[in-house]
Amino acid sequence: MNSQHELSVAERLSAIDAAIADAARQAGRDAGDITRIVVTKFHPASLVQELYDLGVRDVGENRQQELSAKVDALRQAPAPGTEGLRWHFIGQAQTNKAAQIRRAAQAVHSIDRARIADAFDRAAADDGPLDVLLQVNLTDDPGRGGVAPKELEMLAEHVLALPTLRLRGLMAVAPLGEEPAAAFARVHDYASRLRAIAPDADWISAGMTGDFVEAIAAGATHLRIGTAITGPRPAQG
Ligand SMILES: *Cc1c(COP(=O)(O)O)cnc(C)c1O
Repeated sequence: MNSQHELSVAERLSAIDAAIADAARQAGRDAGDITRIVVTKFHPASLVQELYDLGVRDVGENRQQELSAKVDALRQAPAPGTEGLRWHFIGQAQTNKAAQIRRAAQAVHSIDRARIADAFDRAAADDGPLDVLLQVNLTDDPGRGGVAPKELEMLAEHVLALPTLRLRGLMAVAPLGEEPAAAFARVHDYASRLRAIAPDADWISAGMTGDFVEAIAAGATHLRIGTAITGPRPAQG
């Protein structure tokens, strides 16, 4: 047995929420304007249930199969189950998986090309509009995912014309090897460009375990926090 006290999920969650409140105060912002999404990838559905029971209502997943499996597993749970839980898809999406993602998630953060936006629009069933965010690439490497900043407006116009998608804002991942504050300053700028053509698209999804304080300072409205709350991820399956 390790003599050190191992923190529980509940303890880590409240510590992170306190840190978020602190960072918001430092930035002169209302913590109530910030949504903390707990990224549960690689963890079992039982952890999502545990988080829900602790009051978490927003969770994030980055792979379609895992997302669908957890959503299905939790739908079996007895009442109150996970009523009101919102699933955010934060990984790279493939067009042939769009229908399954749309069936499982309430928001998709990773729209980075017209073709994937079209696929999500075509996948609409009787559900309401799907909340989507445009992922912006903060690196010079096109392989990293995300639309190149110079193509942001073009993609936004494309998405705005799709009837079953509701454009909510921007998502970005701070690149390795750059100060997150500098990267998020660019995101702040792209967000104003987006709002110039889509005034309601005011979500900024940015900030993870290592950089959520900087993201809050730069105006992030949605944080995607995994390991700081869930503990280390089990080995990737
Ligand atoms: C895994 C992941 C996160 C969470 O990362 P942590 O460092 O564990 O907080 C956030 N955003 C995306 C896109 C991810 O894939």
